[in-house]
Amino acid sequence: MATQETVESKYVYDFAEGNKDLKDLLGGKGANLAEMTNLGLPVPPGFTITTEACQAYLSTGREPDGLAGQIEAHLESLERQMGRRLGDPDDPLLVSVRSGAKFSMPGMMETVLNVGLNDRSVIGLSTQAGGNDRFAWDSYRRLIQMFGKTVCEVPGEEFEHALDDAKHAKGTRNDLDLDADDLRGLVDAYKKIFAKHTGREFPQEPREQLDLAIRAVFESWNAERAILYRRQERIPADLGTAVNVVSMVFGNLGPDSGTGVAFTRDPGSGAQGIYGDYLANAQGEDVVAGIRNTVPLQELEQLDKNSYDELLGIMARLEEHYKDLCDIEFTIERGKLWMLQTRVGKRTAAAAFVIAGQLVDEGLIDLDEALHRVNGAQLAQLMFPRFQLDHDFQPVARGIGASPGAASGKVVFTSARAVELAAEGESVILVRRETNPDDLTGMIAAKGILTSRGGKTSHAAVVARGMGKTCVSGADELEVNVPAKRFTVGGHTVGEGDVVSIDGTTGKVYLGEVPVMPSEVVQYFEGSLDPAHIDNPLVRAVHRIMTHADAARRLRVRTNADTGADAARARRFGAEGIGLCRTEHMFLGDRRELVERLILAAGEREREDALAALLPLQRADFVEIFREMDGLPVTVRLIDPPLHEFLPPLEQLAVNVAVAQERGEDVAKEEALLSAVRRMHEENPMLGLRGVRLGLVIPGLFAMQVRAIAEAAVAVTRDGGTACPEIMVPLVGAVQELETVRAEAEKIIAEVVGDSGVEVLIGTMIEVPRAALTAGQIAEAAEFFSFGTNDLTQMAWGFSRDDVEGAFFWRYLELGIFGISPFESIDADGVGRLVRIAAEEGRAARPGLKLGVCGEHGGDPDSVHFFHAVGLDYVSCSPFRVPVARLEAGRAAISTTGSDSR
Ligand code: ADP
Ligand code: MG
Ligand code: MG
Repeated sequence: MATQETVESKYVYDFAEGNKDLKDLLGGKGANLAEMTNLGLPVPPGFTITTEACQAYLSTGREPDGLAGQIEAHLESLERQMGRRLGDPDDPLLVSVRSGAKFSMPGMMETVLNVGLNDRSVIGLSTQAGGNDRFAWDSYRRLIQMFGKTVCEVPGEEFEHALDDAKHAKGTRNDLDLDADDLRGLVDAYKKIFAKHTGREFPQEPREQLDLAIRAVFESWNAERAILYRRQERIPADLGTAVNVVSMVFGNLGPDSGTGVAFTRDPGSGAQGIYGDYLANAQGEDVVAGIRNTVPLQELEQLDKNSYDELLGIMARLEEHYKDLCDIEFTIERGKLWMLQTRVGKRTAAAAFVIAGQLVDEGLIDLDEALHRVNGAQLAQLMFPRFQLDHDFQPVARGIGASPGAASGKVVFTSARAVELAAEGESVILVRRETNPDDLTGMIAAKGILTSRGGKTSHAAVVARGMGKTCVSGADELEVNVPAKRFTVGGHTVGEGDVVSIDGTTGKVYLGEVPVMPSEVVQYFEGSLDPAHIDNPLVRAVHRIMTHADAARRLRVRTNADTGADAARARRFGAEGIGLCRTEHMFLGDRRELVERLILAAGEREREDALAALLPLQRADFVEIFREMDGLPVTVRLIDPPLHEFLPPLEQLAVNVAVAQERGEDVAKEEALLSAVRRMHEENPMLGLRGVRLGLVIPGLFAMQVRAIAEAAVAVTRDGGTACPEIMVPLVGAVQELETVRAEAEKIIAEVVGDSGVEVLIGTMIEVPRAALTAGQIAEAAEFFSFGTNDLTQMAWGFSRDDVEGAFFWRYLELGIFGISPFESIDADGVGRLVRIAAEEGRAARPGLKLGVCGEHGGDPDSVHFFHAVGLDYVSCSPFRVPVARLEAGRAAISTTGSDSR
């Protein structure tokens, strides 16, 4: 028999043992350091402790068996390789301890540099650096600061204050002016701060420093801000983080040393070239911290041509290897280049399309891969109008781009003023410290919303996105003074009525009116730019990738359109029919009077007269729509909202009647109207007399609509067109409701259509949970289902959409109860389950049942992937979202793993 030894897990990997595909185990940073090592690039040697070790530590509260020994062994081998021992008093090896999860997480622990320094090795370091005392003490004070802050939770400000005091005493503002003695003094001050907060001395034992730092990285996985970030980004909670231990290289050894960051292409536009920043005589974090001014990377060519050439060669190699834009961190130590990090770099929406197109041209990727690398959210961004910034516009502040778009207008500070000015036809920007539910009317009236507090989940951000309104939140350089009706920013004072411009994509705020230019991508979709004759690289890339998406996708894409004009526009955007044509507007405007007559009708005669008067008007509307959608299906929804919405508001009517009575006027008509409005008043209109219920209660109402649709279809067909109407009954919860409507409708259709060849389908919305749960029965009476996921979401969650977004959604998002509003993206687990049940049971009862979705989810990227996976035939969304849905339907079809938009 073999020995009884249990097999110990491998918890530590040398950089030479890993590769880029081991992100799950080694984290993104570790996997890529390993990849670069194996490519033969100059990476300082080191090792990675796996995410599994972290998981084990987190579940048991102690380091798993074997971890300590494996770290010991890898450390020894590192020491051999470097010819130095960790923290050796004469010639110390120093290391950095760096967290690195599978997904980059800004909520995680920061890096600790210079681990291994203590009161003795700091002297050795100085000697080894040719007597560079200043460098050694600077490195030591950085260690105490980073270690104190990130490992032992000492408040970072304390260290910063001590640094400020030292600079103050020296009469300088630049830390480069502090000499070795000053820094030695600072180390003493730092140690006192450390002891005061932790109740112990700063650990002098190098191995203890290392172990504590590693443990702190493990624990940082469960820090409050990391948990919150994961919930919001929907990153699983049990992945854990890896820990990278990397031998230090020093960019702060003098003018022939330095550190920098770079991109292999412009992450802004996608243009090829060298983009980066370099800072001489500095350690890594100084570049990002913006302590001193960096120089453009190109200047490195003058400073150190050899390193520069080597770096360019490495960047070209990385691009070819990763087949994508890479971003890198590097350090030069006395003329020797070291690579400290690389990853596939973040980029703007425009760059994502342009780069994907370029890489296809370069033969590095194919079109499927190009399609995979862009997404609908990026495309949507490219479809907003943008500020034309070629003039001299400098932002005065930058907040969070909370809801995209570009908006200019006069500043107002209250909701009431926003409403007033908007009523006068002014564009206004509502500026608040933060918004609350009382600001709703002002937010509706404004062109854009600007707040000085709050992030992407603040009230302002959530509500603005729900309304599709431009919003910049959390622009904290703004001092907003609402009572005084002004705000100040960078020395400027902006009062009510002054004009500002806000960019909801970049979060930038400008004074004055910045001209807005239309999106070239929209111009292309609208057909005014011919992709064959355009040298705009973005439009060319979009055209190419969209063409591929259309060829790849299985889902059809329709639009929600209520008028001929909307239908025509959506068709240019690529809509393949109408999935939702609402008929409510056909009862408004100058037809209101007819509707009042219909509701107030004293008897059958009056009602029939009103309906007969409405019929030709609606028929004309349908003719226009069928013409625009010639040859394509048009789903017409019979009237849905409660009828009292077509009547004047109760309070106003009551006041009018009272005033008229006072004056002794004849109010018989108004009184009748008032009592009808009272009678029809509902506490919960969304759950009241609407949809199919209305059709069953008011005789002749649905019949009139069905007749108008059928007659319009026949008329269009007689004129040589092809109308394909699909009549959709809203709010059905029981098959009996649908059967009753169907029986009446079929009679009318048979009578109208005759031998014209027109075919009219009858189906239903699935938007009441009961309908989804009895879909097998309902399918017996329906030729198609269209999921009304807005109402389905309202009723499945018990959320009244009009109320909840302003009232508490911001809080739910902040708490991570959901990562995104279920009205924005379908709740796959709950509401989505209802869709799945209905799709399966509906198709089982009636094979070939046509399935679609209408409602804004139809244009939401993640939701489109879900609907593809459930096997729907089409999605339908607003015209503007049609291209997004086409792109995502294509991505869904080529992707085996579903959405990859993270
Ligand atoms: P982040 O994930 O926040 O970028 P990093 O782990 O990359 O954190 O480290 C922060 C900074 O410290 C980077 O600029 C990096 O270049 C620098 N750094 C990390 N390890 C070393 C090292 N071994 N030698 C020199 N600089 C380092
Ligand atoms: Mg980094
Ligand atoms: Mg509905």
